[in-house]
Amino acid sequence: MHEKIKSKFGRHLAVSAGAAAMFAALMAPLPAAAQQKFVSIGTGGVTGVYYAAGGAICRLVNKDRADHGIRCSVESTGGSVFNVNTIKAGELDLGVVQSDVGFNAYNGDGQFKDAGKFEKLRSVFSLHPEPFTVVARKEANIKSFDDFKGKRFNVGNPGSGTRASMEQLLAAQGRDLKFFSLASELRPDEHGSALCDGKIDGFFYGVGHPSANIQDPTTSCGAQLVSLTGPVVDKLVETYPYYAKVAIPGGLYPNNAEDTETYGVLATFVTSADVPDETIYTVVKAVFENFDDFKKLHPALGLLEKEDMVKNGLSAPLHPGAEKYFKEKGLL
Ligand code: GLU
Repeated sequence: MHEKIKSKFGRHLAVSAGAAAMFAALMAPLPAAAQQKFVSIGTGGVTGVYYAAGGAICRLVNKDRADHGIRCSVESTGGSVFNVNTIKAGELDLGVVQSDVGFNAYNGDGQFKDAGKFEKLRSVFSLHPEPFTVVARKEANIKSFDDFKGKRFNVGNPGSGTRASMEQLLAAQGRDLKFFSLASELRPDEHGSALCDGKIDGFFYGVGHPSANIQDPTTSCGAQLVSLTGPVVDKLVETYPYYAKVAIPGGLYPNNAEDTETYGVLATFVTSADVPDETIYTVVKAVFENFDDFKKLHPALGLLEKEDMVKNGLSAPLHPGAEKYFKEKGLL
């Protein structure tokens, strides 16, 4: 686990034998507030919602750092699959992860078949919905996902949840990446400008709304949201517990007045069973006790309800530190 505990006296440990006894006394356990613990949260691209949500969580944790001694930091990463793997390796404490990716990781399914079950994966709470968002270049004249046949399409960077879900959709359609003339792997902070520059005809992104990432291409080049519906999507939603139908409201983005029907997942906040209960309790408390502030820190978080966050979309068992807090507050 990426956790460094550093005492105030850490730099002065090379002491003479005579002073050793005195230092031994000084090195006795310090009160909690004097110890610095570091927690890191894995997120996604800087223009997505994960990065903002992680930043919001850290901001609230760090506000009371003097009391609990935890210093929280966010990392921009490749997304859900990267976050799970890095938490598993003990190099991140927490991460934001799509509920489908969390489900597959915990159960050793899908993209985690070879790696096997990550049985220590633990849920902290769920966050915002992430509709699978297909965006087309205005001039490409795309009416439905099928129209991308033989076109240049961004399927998401390896390590993203976006890419994992894209592959599941293509497989369910009986297709693979060869369906496109070019299946590019740009990161989400690159796909909008690639679209507007005419380098790709469309992209797929599992993301909360509204998002600056979608705001940019819809504003600057009139990019069009494309719906994802039909029997294959119906079957996916029926088969898998983590999928649900959802609509991106018309008018949320410029040049897209109609609702866009699609399906998607929930973003979830996860950790490992190896992270101490007290750490997770403190992080959860910081968010839930400053909940109105939390919801204001990004518009995609604005509709969250505590009662839903403690149960919806959680693909792994609750971490005991989170469970303790939720029980104390009567949320469970
Ligand atoms: N759901 C995306 C992924 O896991 C990340 C979305 C975001 O960064 O807001 O790849």
